[in-house]
Amino acid sequence: MGTKANGAVEAGAGENAAQELFIGGRTRPASGDRRFPVHDPATGEVLAHVADATGDDVAAAVSAAHAARESWSHTPAWQRYEVLRDGADALRRDVSAMAELISAETGKPVREALGEAHNTVRFFEWFSHETLRLPGEAWPEITPTRDAIVVAEPVGVVAAITPWNFPAFMVACKVGAALAAGCTVVLKPAEQTPLTALFIARALHAAGLPDGVLNVVPTSDPASAGQVFLHDARVDCISFTGSRAIGELLMREAAASIKRVLLELGGNSPVVVLDDADIAATASRLVQARYLNAGQACVAANRVYVVESVAEALLAELGMAVRALNVGDPRRDDTNLGPLIDLAAVERIETQIDRAVAQGAELTTGGGRLKENAVSAFVRPAVLTAQGGQEPAVFSEEIFGPVLAVVTCRDEAEAISLANDTEYGLAAYVFTGDADRGLRIARALRAGSVAVNGALTSEPQLPFGGMKASGLGRERGRAGVEEFLELKTIQLAK
Ligand code: NAD
Repeated sequence: MGTKANGAVEAGAGENAAQELFIGGRTRPASGDRRFPVHDPATGEVLAHVADATGDDVAAAVSAAHAARESWSHTPAWQRYEVLRDGADALRRDVSAMAELISAETGKPVREALGEAHNTVRFFEWFSHETLRLPGEAWPEITPTRDAIVVAEPVGVVAAITPWNFPAFMVACKVGAALAAGCTVVLKPAEQTPLTALFIARALHAAGLPDGVLNVVPTSDPASAGQVFLHDARVDCISFTGSRAIGELLMREAAASIKRVLLELGGNSPVVVLDDADIAATASRLVQARYLNAGQACVAANRVYVVESVAEALLAELGMAVRALNVGDPRRDDTNLGPLIDLAAVERIETQIDRAVAQGAELTTGGGRLKENAVSAFVRPAVLTAQGGQEPAVFSEEIFGPVLAVVTCRDEAEAISLANDTEYGLAAYVFTGDADRGLRIARALRAGSVAVNGALTSEPQLPFGGMKASGLGRERGRAGVEEFLELKTIQLAK
């Protein structure tokens, strides 16, 4: 197996790569030299046998982060900015290698992976600048005999748990913000995609990030790592992105020690399409909003509520656009959808389609598996349709794959009411030719992010997060840094 000069795995280069834990600024094997395989979902090939952290290894990473905490939090802001900016620059120089690794681990088209890699750099860069703008207040003479100041202090050691669908970008959102705030981090990446996380940590460290400030502990046993994060008093905050079930488990167990928990969970994003929308443009933007990353995105458009006067036209345009998508080898430039992350994900999607059809939905486009490179994790993008009031129960679930549910509604009021009828509140979309109407409906939809007449893009300035069961707290933007700060009020008697 090949490794590059910077230690990155050569994507697709074969077996036997030793990829080690990253603790205290050093690479090291896991206790007992335990390892687990990481696969390329497009070929089934083993990319590497990665060190498999035990609970003791995770505790060692917490020790390293705890030891580095005092010095990093007191590093002058300007110096922290320079270190993080240099880290972003180093990642920029290696952006193509990062993209190859992302594509190899996730199966997403290289073109999309390059977009994610560039975004990762952009977010690290933004967070480096935020180091220079941490908040504070001064209240001179708050009483006749007292001045007061409010200082923002880093919360301390952050345990960051990231999912596989955006293995670099999710790291940037958490790690960039936490480091800017002056926290130190133990990062536990998803077991499907540890190589990208290790790549980022090594690059930041080589660019000057001090030992122990960022530690990475891949493991095939996330529950044990989670237990260390929950029960080690030196961990001050758990920042988690992933499924609702695991988020709920972490929140429940963190209650015992009142540990700060930030949660970015699932979504079931609705789309409202009104009679005055440009239907051809709506269809093409919906394709972006649903089928990017083969539909494996938390903000992906899940359910479309279209008013009946334009439903037929929308379905015709959508059918054409979806059938034109190329499914196949992620390394080809003209590929739109690679494989799903694994066969279990394919089976989940197939079951959801079957249940929807059994519950009265119609499969109007796509569905079914395609075989590439002897791997059957490729799914034909699909469209399911149903009438408002007769929606299959499966439409109220998150569909984490390339399937769009389209429901025909009587009018705007019914569309908004059905759109909000969900336990989730991560993202929502509205399509209309009337800007005022778009804004009014955006305000009426209960979601942390709403796009009017487009797909959502990820911008570092914009806070992101869920309402209702989609999460707690915000990532990105200033708010994303503030989640890793604690305010301290100091009163100074004169
Ligand atoms: P998952 O919850 O199974 O895994 C996410 C992470 O949690 C992984 O790193 C995993 O190893 C870890 N984990 C699993 N069990 C754990 C435990 N007991 N203790 C501690 N950590 C544990 O989620 P998934 O299926 O891999 O990812 C898909 C889900 O993530 C979807 O629901 C999707 O919507 C959500 N997601 C949300 C966002 C967002 O920003 N809101 C972004 C991406 C994905």
